[in-house]
Amino acid sequence: MKKKRIVIKVGSGVITEANNIAKERMLSLVTLIAEFKKTNEVILVTSGAVSAGYTALQLDRKRDISKKVLASVGQPILMTNYKRMFDIFDINISQILLTEEDFDSRVHTVIFQQIIETTLANGILPIVNENDISTTEDQLFGDNDQLASHITHYTNSDLLVLLSDIDGYYDDNPSKNPDAKIIKEVHSIDAAKLMEDHTPNNKFATGGIVTKLKAAQYLMNRNRQMFLCSGYDLSTIKDYVLDGVHEKGSLFSRL
Ligand code: ADP
Repeated sequence: MKKKRIVIKVGSGVITEANNIAKERMLSLVTLIAEFKKTNEVILVTSGAVSAGYTALQLDRKRDISKKVLASVGQPILMTNYKRMFDIFDINISQILLTEEDFDSRVHTVIFQQIIETTLANGILPIVNENDISTTEDQLFGDNDQLASHITHYTNSDLLVLLSDIDGYYDDNPSKNPDAKIIKEVHSIDAAKLMEDHTPNNKFATGGIVTKLKAAQYLMNRNRQMFLCSGYDLSTIKDYVLDGVHEKGSLFSRL
């Protein structure tokens, strides 16, 4: 049977906590990916470089250059942690840093597609992040939700999973409206929702729900699926991917 190809994107709120790498949560994620890899091909898109950098050096991340310094300090911290944890499962990893421009040019796009194909064919886990160190703002997506949706499409993946600090897509902002309800299945997104201001919940998060909706829209337009669920309680995504059980989380797909 052909393996399913899944892109998993994890937000910085899941990977870090109170100026530290959230090692237990990271290990839970790594353990889950090791299990998924037995029956699926997995590509990981990880946020968290800037917040990992902040664990070593407390610069003002609002300054553009400080953010780049933090990313340059944090990238090896983040990858060292992944490397150590994936070693437990004898899984080798590769690091692929991309910019929005890599999706613009056929030449560049083919390069990363070939890298990802070759790593997957050899059982290596590709870990993708935005190369926000040596680049200007207009060369970047600016958030990993959209990077992950493009990766999903260009690697011909079956599903994008967004592991977030929120357990699904609500009919209103749940941090402001306690009566907001999760929408389990989303088949279309109102254009006005895609224009709203960004609403990240954590100081290192860049996206908020709008970038997640944009990622979903991009994929639904290309007949691909996206699943948004909690990165704190991984049972939701485990049940969905391994057993096809959808009790929690939000699935975005065209009818
Ligand atoms: P991550 O770092 O996981 O990418 P973000 O903090 O960027 O997550 O985005 C998720 C946040 O978006 C939620 O914690 C919530 O505060 C906010 N949000 C605003 N509107 C909604 C909505 N309709 N449904 C879910 N979350 C929403």
